[in-house]
Amino acid sequence: MALQMFGIPVSRGVAIGRAVLMSSARLDVAHYFVERGREEAEVDRLRAARAAVRSELQALQAELPADAPAEMAAFIDVHKMLLDDPQIARETANWVRRRRYNAEWALTAQLDVIARSFDEMDDAYLRERKADVEQVVERLLRALRGTQGLPGGTQNGEDLVLVAHDIAPADMMQFKQGVFRGFVTDIGGKTSHTAIVARSLDIPAVVGVREASRLVRHDDRVIIDGDHGLVIVDPSPAIVEDYLRRKHDSEQSRQRLQQLRDTPARTLDGQQVELLANIELPEDCRAALGSGAAGIGLFRTEFLFMKRARDLPDEQEQFDAYRGVVQAMGGRPVTIRTIDIGADKPFDGEGDGRDGEITHLNPALGLRAIRYSLSDPAMFRVQLRALLRAAAFGPLRILVPMLAHSRELHQTFEQLELARAELRAAGTEVGPVEVGAMIEVPGAVLMLPLFLRYFDFISIGTNDLVQYTLAIDRADESVADLYDPLHPAVLQLLSQTIAQCHAARQWKGRAVHVSVCGEMAGDPQLTRLLLGLGLRSFSMHPAQLLSVKQEVLRADCARLAPLAQAVLAEFEPQPQARALAALAG
Ligand code: PEP
Ligand code: MG
Repeated sequence: MALQMFGIPVSRGVAIGRAVLMSSARLDVAHYFVERGREEAEVDRLRAARAAVRSELQALQAELPADAPAEMAAFIDVHKMLLDDPQIARETANWVRRRRYNAEWALTAQLDVIARSFDEMDDAYLRERKADVEQVVERLLRALRGTQGLPGGTQNGEDLVLVAHDIAPADMMQFKQGVFRGFVTDIGGKTSHTAIVARSLDIPAVVGVREASRLVRHDDRVIIDGDHGLVIVDPSPAIVEDYLRRKHDSEQSRQRLQQLRDTPARTLDGQQVELLANIELPEDCRAALGSGAAGIGLFRTEFLFMKRARDLPDEQEQFDAYRGVVQAMGGRPVTIRTIDIGADKPFDGEGDGRDGEITHLNPALGLRAIRYSLSDPAMFRVQLRALLRAAAFGPLRILVPMLAHSRELHQTFEQLELARAELRAAGTEVGPVEVGAMIEVPGAVLMLPLFLRYFDFISIGTNDLVQYTLAIDRADESVADLYDPLHPAVLQLLSQTIAQCHAARQWKGRAVHVSVCGEMAGDPQLTRLLLGLGLRSFSMHPAQLLSVKQEVLRADCARLAPLAQAVLAEFEPQPQARALAALAG
């Protein structure tokens, strides 16, 4: 009997495959398939790692002082025994031979199997032995770090889907290689950064399925319906048949959309609309260009910094990345955001004070984004110098996240001036940049008269604007039903921001360019409403761009403007729903 579970749909499409269960703590090791025929070489890597750890443990034992407690030697003996235990030695090699998992993945997969069987034990003493196995696997993983595997194999047989309690955004990034065809997590919200990365991978994903990682077993056949937030475990052949048909249909309609790639984004009444791409890494420019994006509206540079522990990218590395994007986009505008680290995107450093663990009670209200950059001006200027240098190679705009205070605005410009002066003093070429502010907190909307005086452009981060306006944690599935981009307060703030940017024409001599780069911009169901509110620039994941363009091509802004005003005037759900239905045409 099929088991059905509901969660929050975060990335559309259908995936059908065998479940791979992973504990969140183990997701940060490399995951790839080894090439066919290279399985024994990979098993040799495991063997070599075991030999290295055995020598390490022997050396530890030999160095024990004569008066060391007897338990210490016994403890090391247990670890040596575990190293050769068939559950570790033989079964791990089996993951490599049967599934062609790389050594690190094989080890963590087997560790998950062992951990589950320990968790089911009644005997508390035996249950605690799980920690010993974990320590041995940790040592093996460290030993493997010194040896290089050979990625490049492809999965044979059925597709794989990942089921985990949670997936950190930085861990999600490594799945860009395409090992998994779908994702299911127990926790998370629609605009959590994990969901955002899943959308950027364009792979079906459902989050907030609560018990998924407990109820789904390894190798269960799973259907992920990313359109409706449904996960079906062990489906009947008739259900599989139905979903295979849907999958085929949705692939066909995507291919049809591809024909719009080079069509200018212009509404029926001739309004030009700018459709830009959001990216996380320079490599994403390929997808941006493939979707016909007019430029980059948001490069989330913090992804260059995550999982780097003590080794943060220096000026040259950042410069190479930013210049790479500017050059790849061939003269199209590129908007690069200074790091938005913190909250659900920690550095993940190890004991350097930039702890991966969130230790503050309210990390979303804590040291994040521009606050973080200003708390470490030397680090901030490294990024600003890299950006100013990259600007010499093409049009580059700097975007500042989560501003609220005038002090932050002034300090940001001071740091930018300092960075420019440092480069000039060194005789380094500097390009012209425009500087923009993100509107992500309601307080920033009320500060617009000041922001518009100083900044060249505005970008509305609706993911955070919804979160901070409604006091709803965007990553918390237990309040996900209250996370409502159509809440009248959110729409008022959006509308006011767009209107004030346009009205700057009267006192600044020009309108201030305004764009939305939060997830609302990529939702085709909201395109008409945003157009009706006067928005003409949208930035989203490349995978969403052509669906939004299709809506733009069918829209008539002159007709939509009064309808959008009618939506704005409604504070009750029923009349608002009616007004929205009129907008949908
Ligand atoms: C936003 O908040 O809408 C945004 C684009 O920034 P991020 O999702 O990275 O917080
Ligand atoms: Mg944000």
